[in-house]
Amino acid sequence: MLLSLVKIVIFFVIVAALAYGGVLLLESDGGLQLAFGGYEIALGPLQAVIAFVALLVALWIIMKVVGLALAVVKFLLGDETALSRYFDRNRERKGFEALADGMLALASGEGRVAMSKAAKAEKYLRKPELTNLLTAQAAEAVGDKRKAEETYKRLLSDDRTRFVGVRGILKQRLDAGDTDTALKLAEKAFAIKPKHVETQDVLLKLQADKGDWSAARRTLSAKLKHGAIPRDVHKRRDAVLALSEAKGILDDGASIEAREAAIEANKKSPDLIPAAVMAADNLVQNGNSKQATRILKKAWQVQPHPDLAAAFARIEPDETPAQRLKRFGALTKANTGDPETKMLLAELQIANEDFPAARRALGDLAEINPTSRSLTIMAAVERGEGGSDVVVRGWLTRALTAPRGPQWICDNCNTVHTEWAPVCGNCSGFDTLSWRQPSQSEVAMPAGTEMLPMIVGAPASADNVVSVDVDTADVVDAEIVADAPSETQDSDAKK
Ligand SMILES: [Zn+2]
Repeated sequence: MLLSLVKIVIFFVIVAALAYGGVLLLESDGGLQLAFGGYEIALGPLQAVIAFVALLVALWIIMKVVGLALAVVKFLLGDETALSRYFDRNRERKGFEALADGMLALASGEGRVAMSKAAKAEKYLRKPELTNLLTAQAAEAVGDKRKAEETYKRLLSDDRTRFVGVRGILKQRLDAGDTDTALKLAEKAFAIKPKHVETQDVLLKLQADKGDWSAARRTLSAKLKHGAIPRDVHKRRDAVLALSEAKGILDDGASIEAREAAIEANKKSPDLIPAAVMAADNLVQNGNSKQATRILKKAWQVQPHPDLAAAFARIEPDETPAQRLKRFGALTKANTGDPETKMLLAELQIANEDFPAARRALGDLAEINPTSRSLTIMAAVERGEGGSDVVVRGWLTRALTAPRGPQWICDNCNTVHTEWAPVCGNCSGFDTLSWRQPSQSEVAMPAGTEMLPMIVGAPASADNVVSVDVDTADVVDAEIVADAPSETQDSDAKK
């Protein structure tokens, strides 16, 4: 607003100055006297100014004509491009104008305008590396996939634009879900520009999706080398990949390499539960139960976890409950305050049929942190101590609707996984699973569960538990725990 006002004022000042100058010229007496070979011309002041301007225009025209004449002469002398070069200068100007218009149109979201401007610019400029870029982006903007792909393919032929072309087609393939082609393109793009962070990420994700762990580890190393990820993140992710690699090798039954790879993974990241489990299992297979114990003990100190306990049980599968209780002391004496340690110890005591000790081991966990597992343990303790069916079923009923406790949950999409995996089964996120409590109970029961205590609490035989349509695994587990305490550890261990 203020600016346009200033502009208007300046415009008026200039017009006024010009008018004043003209009047001054008319009124002044002087003039221009030209003497040329006996002729003498006298010009008034205003006429002199007009003549000067006319002279400038004439000079400009003469220069243009001379330029054209020179081009014609050069053409006649054999320089075939002289004439076209002369006209090219005009074309270039028009071409860059069209290109600039096209870019502005693209920036303002007018894809169609941008495309026609790009075509015009190409006609004048003949610089496909510039105009194709504009065309491809404009085609993407208007959703013309075929045209965009065509243009990207043309970009492949020039060294300077090859990466843009590959990246463009890669994105299209990814959108179309064609991961095989996308992987090849990502590899190509990575070969051209290994430092390009987006390409690294896309390649890593595709390799992880395909389960090509050794290739994914190479990409990860490249990411570290080019400073795209911090060293500790690299260490953790490399451990994840090394582990996945180990898993793959395990499937083929090549146990020596698997052991080495899994141990390497474990060495780099002792807090990674699956790596520790894998390493311990392999050590046990190779008869080295001492090292397996050490690895699991170390991991338990960092993070108590049922998978670790299950692996620890597999070290000596045939021991008596009493022997097992004694041997597990290596685990349970560390992290004693952790709910996981308390529940493990309680389960071991139940297996050993020392129910008061189990109750002591669990403490008030079932009150302060009621999960289906801790409540089921309480049911087993009650059953073992000779509590009535009503009391036992009361605990089991609470266990039904209680939170499940920590699970392998994807940080990205919150999907619960029964087993750890390097890639989320739902959103394909890489290294996104963490062991934590779901934000809310994953076992939301339909309305009417508040009736359950009345139904299961009714005086009846133990068979009733099944007849009320309660087929939750926990109840079945609990029945096993209660009926055959010596099997606790095995039912707890994930097979
Ligand atoms: Zn996920």
